[in-house]
Amino acid sequence: MVRIKLAASAIVAVGLAACAAQTTYQPRHFEAEPAIAMLEALSTDEMKGRKVGTEENAKARAMIVDRFHALGVSPGVAGYELPFGYGPFEGGETSKSGINILGHIQGTADRDLSMIITAHYDHVGEIDGQIYNGADDNASGVVGLLAAAEYFAENPPKYDISFLALDAEEDGLGGAIAFVANPPAPLDNVALNINFDMLARGDNGKLWASGTAHWPDMKPIVSRVAQSAPVQIEMGFDQGEAREDWTLLSDHAAFFRTGIPHIYFGVEDHVDYHKPTDDFENINQDWFLKSVDSVIMMAIAMDTQLDEIYDMRQAALNE
Ligand SMILES: [Zn+2]
Repeated sequence: MVRIKLAASAIVAVGLAACAAQTTYQPRHFEAEPAIAMLEALSTDEMKGRKVGTEENAKARAMIVDRFHALGVSPGVAGYELPFGYGPFEGGETSKSGINILGHIQGTADRDLSMIITAHYDHVGEIDGQIYNGADDNASGVVGLLAAAEYFAENPPKYDISFLALDAEEDGLGGAIAFVANPPAPLDNVALNINFDMLARGDNGKLWASGTAHWPDMKPIVSRVAQSAPVQIEMGFDQGEAREDWTLLSDHAAFFRTGIPHIYFGVEDHVDYHKPTDDFENINQDWFLKSVDSVIMMAIAMDTQLDEIYDMRQAALNE
């Protein structure tokens, strides 16, 4: 980090000025200003890369819980926070631990089906004295999740939606694997997992929808929404080619392994991917806002057809 040390108030002033100067796009489904402010707040040097188990990871968690509360997203019976343990357990080594964050918005339909929107809020922390801020990976996905919650809190979905901000993704998908292994409620009625991981860096202008090779029935929905989405959306990175298959590379993998359909939205690796330069300042804010608008459009379409998505999966299982 080669950032000049400023007083906290000066940083806020600079941030707001930058925000005002850089965004012209008006999102259709959420407010731009709190989204940009949250993206910056999660990825400042003060957050020290949000590594699982750290004080700064807990600060990020508190910000997400506060936002859920402010938006009217309901906690589960045990509250918003779901502590979990994860491996390894070898040689007497104690388990590591993290905390997932779960909120709910109830659907209007009578049928008991749900969708889980996920985004990991941890990143890799500090390495060799350098802070890895993880603005794209994955402060951007968390903001996408919160913006979707903002939309659906105002416009109730047809079916229930769980908003799950996951911890320890950067440590072997720890939070997602623990959630699926020990969910607070059975996952039988979960029709779909939509995962957001890296929504901000469209350096080549493309946002990818990955997973339809496994769930081809989702292709028509993705294609249709892509036609009117404000960013270019393509399907792929899910066909089994070495290094080019993202199926097992982020939290959706835990859902995929249990047979729950998933769609993963994210950008390709870029010059700042997993580098100390994955900074707020390197994000094109307009493109980011368009990307978030696009994934909310996808979530709306998938909610509308969630019964069909679920029934198609059941039919495939019975074949
Ligand atoms: Zn990530």
